[in-house]
Amino acid sequence: MQTTEENIKKIKHSILQWENEYQREMGSVQLMAVSKKKPAQLIEQAYQAGQLIFGESYVQEAILKQQQLSHLHDIEWHFIGPIQSNKTKDIAQNFSWVHSLDRLKIAQRLNDQRPEGLAALNICLQVNIDAESTKSGFAGQEVVQALKAIKRFPRLKVRGIMAIPKPTNNFEQQRRSFQKVNAIFQQCLEIDDMLDTLSIGMSNDIEAAIAEGSTMVRVGTAIFGARD
Ligand SMILES: *Cc1c(COP(=O)(O)O)cnc(C)c1O
Repeated sequence: MQTTEENIKKIKHSILQWENEYQREMGSVQLMAVSKKKPAQLIEQAYQAGQLIFGESYVQEAILKQQQLSHLHDIEWHFIGPIQSNKTKDIAQNFSWVHSLDRLKIAQRLNDQRPEGLAALNICLQVNIDAESTKSGFAGQEVVQALKAIKRFPRLKVRGIMAIPKPTNNFEQQRRSFQKVNAIFQQCLEIDDMLDTLSIGMSNDIEAAIAEGSTMVRVGTAIFGARD
C-alpha cells in the first residue's frame, strides 16, 4: 500500500512524461486531486505533498471537510458533482471552480448567489460527449450556444469545458472520445480565445486525455485508493 504522497509524486512524474511524449508544453497539465468520500486527514496529507487543487462531488460532505481544513489557506476547491438547484447557494459560497455546469438555470443561480467579496466563480461547461442518457451535460451541439449565454453572467468566469466519457479500458477508444471533446473545445475557443481549461482525464484514462489536449486531469482512485 503506497502513501498518498508517493502516489502524487508518481502521477506528477507520469504527467511530465506524457507531456513530453505527446508534444505538450511542459507544465501545461494540472493535477486535481479528487477527494470525494475521503477524510480530511488524507486531503491534508496530499496538501503536505504539495497538492493544492481538490475536487469534491457532494456539497455537504465537502463543506464539512473545508471547515476541518480551514487552516490550509491556499487550497483551491473545485466542485465536480451533479448540481441540484437547492445546493447552488452553498456551491457559490464555498468553491472557486465548478466543472459540472450543465444548465443555464443553474448558471443564473450561481451568478446571483456568488458573494460580492469573492472573485467571479470559475466555470467549466460539462459536455455529455457520448450522449449517455444517465449522464448530465450539454449535448455537443448545444455547447457553443450555452457558452455565449453563460459568458454574459458577470459573476461567472467561463474557463473551458469538462467531460466524462463512457468508461472503457481501450486506449484508442479513450482517445477518440477525448478527440471529440477537444473538437468542441476548439469551437468554443473561436467564441472566446481566453478559455484555458480542458478538464478531461481520470485515474483510468489520464494518458489518453493528455494525448488529446487535457489541461486538467481529475484523479481520485490513483491518489487516494478505491472508494467504497
Ligand atoms: C470521482 C470523479 C473523478 C475521479 O475518478 P477516479 O476514477 O477515481 O480518478 C473525476 N471526475 C469526476 C467528475 C468524478 O466524479
